[in-house]
Amino acid sequence: MSPPVEFGRFFLPGPTEVRPEVLEAQVRPMIGHRGPETEALLARLAAPLSALFRTSRPVFVSASSATGLMEMAIRNGVRRKALCLVNGAFSQRFADIAAACGVDHHVARVEPGQTFEADQVRQLLGQTGADAVTVVHSESATGALAPLAEIAAAVRERDDVLLLVDGVTSVAGSPVETDAWGLDFILTGSQKATALPPGLAFATASERMLERARTLPGRGIYFDLVVYDEQARRHQTPYTPAVSLLYALDCQLSRIAADGGIEARWARHDAMRRTVEAWVAAKGGALGIQFLPREGRRSWTVSCLKLMREGQTGGAVAKAAAQLGWTIAPGYGTLKDSTIRIGHMGDHTVAGLEALLGVLEGVLARA
Ligand SMILES: *Cc1c(COP(=O)(O)O)cnc(C)c1O
Repeated sequence: MSPPVEFGRFFLPGPTEVRPEVLEAQVRPMIGHRGPETEALLARLAAPLSALFRTSRPVFVSASSATGLMEMAIRNGVRRKALCLVNGAFSQRFADIAAACGVDHHVARVEPGQTFEADQVRQLLGQTGADAVTVVHSESATGALAPLAEIAAAVRERDDVLLLVDGVTSVAGSPVETDAWGLDFILTGSQKATALPPGLAFATASERMLERARTLPGRGIYFDLVVYDEQARRHQTPYTPAVSLLYALDCQLSRIAADGGIEARWARHDAMRRTVEAWVAAKGGALGIQFLPREGRRSWTVSCLKLMREGQTGGAVAKAAAQLGWTIAPGYGTLKDSTIRIGHMGDHTVAGLEALLGVLEGVLARA
């Protein structure tokens, strides 16, 4: 095995770096998943998980990646037709899942880096007659942050429409107010802002969503929301839970509470986003970089920067950083060559991010 690299040099927009003590928490003996020990573990996780999502409702844990719960959202949340708000590769995935599940849907698009605004959503709901809206809060492919509270308010004006949210790079990294904003379904994955190893996904659903789900015939088996909800209320899971990952989750939720809770975590991510903004404002001209999304619509967890110089590519910049021992991501999909992405989420710090930006300065100046 290669020697462990010092923490704080791995800035992908998922998976994110995991603290050694969280990794080590997994190395414990197995317990029977129908026994009192697992039930006690899941019971202990319930309140801190709800705190992460700012909800009084149960949050359930799935042994899958986040995409599994995107499929749950579609299968359990759409009766007639979904309106899919697409502004990047992950929001496109909701539309692809709807197509694959045979669910009627309308795809609305804005340019990568932009977001849908509440008035557009009002208009689209009027035009399409959709009874569910899919949206990605923080579009990790473009670094754009949707005005989710305002979109939710627009959706709430109609009482037959559900709002289904991918919060994969927002939950635990920037403000998400599930109950106060009235989100019907919101999901995330363990390997993003919660800074756990990949393999778990978390979600919570409103009572309205559950009522609708009970009437839908196409819920399938593994992602049947009705069953997950019943089991979560009894601190159980429908199928075998990923026990080792639950140990890591238990450890990480305790760490988050000890570090000042969710609001302190949001504040640290806000400071990291501002650090990148200040750096681009000061040096972007000389280094040939610009933010893709406009001010006010920038993710707190993923900064997507356009490369303005002829001949520079995202892949080449990421490779040059890797040769110095630092990991960032090139662009995603159609933005692969024209952008780079810095994932500053999870347990990263402003000081660590500043060190990375110092390295990138050297890389960009040479390139
Ligand atoms: C990473 C990511 C996903 C996909 O997550 P998986 O865990 O790979 O299924 C979905 N949406 C967003 C916004 C993401 O960043």
